[in-house]
Amino acid sequence: MTLNEIAAAYVKLVLAVGRHDDSYVDAYYGPPEWQAETRTLPLADLRLSADQLEQQFKQLPAPAPDQQLRQDFLLLHVAAVRSYIDQLAGARLSFDAESMALYDAKSPSLTEADFDLILAELDQLLPGQGDLNPRLSDYHRTFEIPRDRLDAVFTAAINEARARTKKHIALPAQENFSIEYVQDQVWSAYNWYKGNSYSLIQVNTDFPMFISRAIDLASHEGYPGHHVFNLLIEKHLVNEQGWMEYCVYPLYSPMSFLAEGSANYGIDVAFPEAERLAFEKDTLFPLAGIDPALAELYYQVQAVLQKLSYAGNMVAQRYLDGIIERPAAIALLMKYALSDEKRSTQRIGFIEKHRSYVINYNLGQDVVQAYVEKRAGKDNEQQRWQVFAELLSHPKSASMMEK
Ligand SMILES: [Zn+2]
Repeated sequence: MTLNEIAAAYVKLVLAVGRHDDSYVDAYYGPPEWQAETRTLPLADLRLSADQLEQQFKQLPAPAPDQQLRQDFLLLHVAAVRSYIDQLAGARLSFDAESMALYDAKSPSLTEADFDLILAELDQLLPGQGDLNPRLSDYHRTFEIPRDRLDAVFTAAINEARARTKKHIALPAQENFSIEYVQDQVWSAYNWYKGNSYSLIQVNTDFPMFISRAIDLASHEGYPGHHVFNLLIEKHLVNEQGWMEYCVYPLYSPMSFLAEGSANYGIDVAFPEAERLAFEKDTLFPLAGIDPALAELYYQVQAVLQKLSYAGNMVAQRYLDGIIERPAAIALLMKYALSDEKRSTQRIGFIEKHRSYVINYNLGQDVVQAYVEKRAGKDNEQQRWQVFAELLSHPKSASMMEK
């Protein structure tokens, strides 16, 4: 088999695994007949196909330099499919072993002591006294976007994110998206990439939407996040190079580490701190009917909260490894991630469904940031966009970025 033949077989294997799990195939824009031909096969057969594909790599001739990256990335994906088939068949790995197998990465082991320091910092910053969780909820209430202003605020944020991205990345003329407001989901927003540079972005209205989420979601789901990442891959790799493995996106794969990590880091790329604050004060706060004078402290609080994000990994690891039960996991999230009880319960739902996927958001962001800033420096905006766009068009896994 040639590498292109292995790539086609891999796509068909991913589609077949998707018959066992609705969440698995996140996006597909390859030949419709490949999808139409997909049958539901026993997991043991699929496991055998994955093994055979891994064997095929060993028989490939040494790749040309420009093909090495492609080949390494695809091999990691085939290994991830194999591991996911085993998990569908009932195998359970430890949290760390699972994240290595699926995402080529392992979250650092942090404990309560690490987060206690950050909680102390927040205690200084927040108005009032006493238990941080209810205090933070009280403080945040002022920053909720009223439901009837949500679309105006979110649309303004995504238009700004798009304009900023377009200055640095050439986007196809027909690229577009639509926004839907939905309910009853374990996520707060989702990008469904449909191919031909089009995305459906869904925003979950189960929970109050706070003002910081407008830019976060606009950049993460849209520009330069998931929408841009997907369209660059479709344009450069599928259409121009004919690298068919990229026409399918299996959710539980190393691709997600880069997708979530770059979507989160992309918020900072599109909106450097001072520019973000100015746009929030001048445009988004007034649109949401929130006093712009409150923006400065609010974003200081958000920056401290960001440092607590790894508490979510700690809780997920302990819960999924069977060290703590569900109520203890919810209590730990409330104490260290400071989400309220309802939101913490929703997060446990996400952890139960997507398991070690949680590391892709924060560790992914940190690895992508380190990769880009090592090459572009911290302050050269032009350079930063360039390295970032180059990475989105030539995907690398965690271990490849850390090399
Ligand atoms: Zn995402």
